[in-house]
Amino acid sequence: PYDVLVVGGGPAGASAAIYAARKGIRTGVVAERFGGQVMDTLGIENFISVSYTEGPKLVAQLEQHVKEYDVDLMTEQKASSLKSGEYVEIGLENGATLRSRAVILSTGARWREMNVPGEREYRGKGVAYCPHCDGPLFKGKRVAVIGGGNSGIEAAIDLAGIVEHVTVLEFADTLRADEVLQRKARSMANITIIKNAQTTEVRGDGKKAIGLTYTDRVTGESKQLDVAGTFVQIGLIPNTEWLKDSGLQLSKFGEIEINARGETSVPGVFAAGDATTEPFKQIIVAMGGGSTAALAAFDHLIRTADP
Ligand code: FAD
Repeated sequence: PYDVLVVGGGPAGASAAIYAARKGIRTGVVAERFGGQVMDTLGIENFISVSYTEGPKLVAQLEQHVKEYDVDLMTEQKASSLKSGEYVEIGLENGATLRSRAVILSTGARWREMNVPGEREYRGKGVAYCPHCDGPLFKGKRVAVIGGGNSGIEAAIDLAGIVEHVTVLEFADTLRADEVLQRKARSMANITIIKNAQTTEVRGDGKKAIGLTYTDRVTGESKQLDVAGTFVQIGLIPNTEWLKDSGLQLSKFGEIEINARGETSVPGVFAAGDATTEPFKQIIVAMGGGSTAALAAFDHLIRTADP
């Protein structure tokens, strides 16, 4: 068995593994795809102390750093169950079971996509999911935000301070965002909100996105919007479906409930990063969370007997 088994190999998992291994304890990482969302990221400008890097490059450096330590790295393996007893048992889809005294869950999340033509094609070329990350790339340009929930309206307010103009497209006839956010958005001169709008296509010139097409759900009319950027804000889904029957406490959004030490509701099980209730989903935050969880796991180990 391991002392610490990390499930997930994104920035949170890599950081947890390094912090655990540096304590000289038996450490393993099991991950479906090492690097996680960072693998899908083009430019990164907010990884503090590195003014610019690219996803695959950062992932290669993460992997190299992890491999400098005595860590069992098991990739292309998907966890499908968690059971806690004498040891915490992680069942894998291939039928194997891994046992560990402590487990750190860092399975991340995925952005809900619109699933319209052009979205995948222009991802990173005008189609974006993270305003904190990509907002400054559209400085002085016109952009659209898809979704009128809290994240959509927060994104619109954030972007309005950077870009020339923001159009929010909401599918329903009302916005779901908190009233205080709606009021703030309505007070900003360069935000337009269009309701009853179903986005049907991201249009591009073959190299980058140039706009989108939507249907006015009241009149049935198809309309065009010329925008350099489209921020899709229709939900971030935590990769925690496999934990539904584990007894672990999840939020109503499916996020793993953690406290300031990265502890979950199950003793010996810790969590970090985008899969958790941590409110800010960023690389540097996920890494901080991973180190917190590993230090808390070590603290737990020195207080409990090896079975
Ligand atoms: P993830 O990166 O999601 O990693 C999850 C890991 O868990 C992966 O290894 C995955 O394969 C594995 N996994 C999932 N389920 C299982 C399972 N059942 N069993 C085993 N393994 C599993 N943040 C920034 O700070 N700056 C940026 O510029 C930036 N740009 C972004 C651009 C895009 C397009 C996207 C999608 C995100 C961006 N982010 C950015 C956000 C950032 O990538 C995430 O906050 C960060 O990657 C979260 O790290 P994580 O380790 O929690 O999860």
